[in-house]
Amino acid sequence: MTTVNVGDTVTTRKPHACGCDKWTVVRVGADFKLKCLKCGHVVMLDSDKFHKVAQIATK
Ligand SMILES: [Zn+2]
Repeated sequence: MTTVNVGDTVTTRKPHACGCDKWTVVRVGADFKLKCLKCGHVVMLDSDKFHKVAQIATK
């Protein structure tokens, strides 16, 4: 399992409705909060779902 830290950029398999597939991690823990880089929309995912849909973007 990959370690994710606040401030990391992740990509998702399915892009957001605005067309952007890159997100900044704003909270980690039992739940993960991601902020869309393009439109600023924030979503909350539980860790199971997060690890299914998100991948750390290569820096
Ligand atoms: Zn968006």
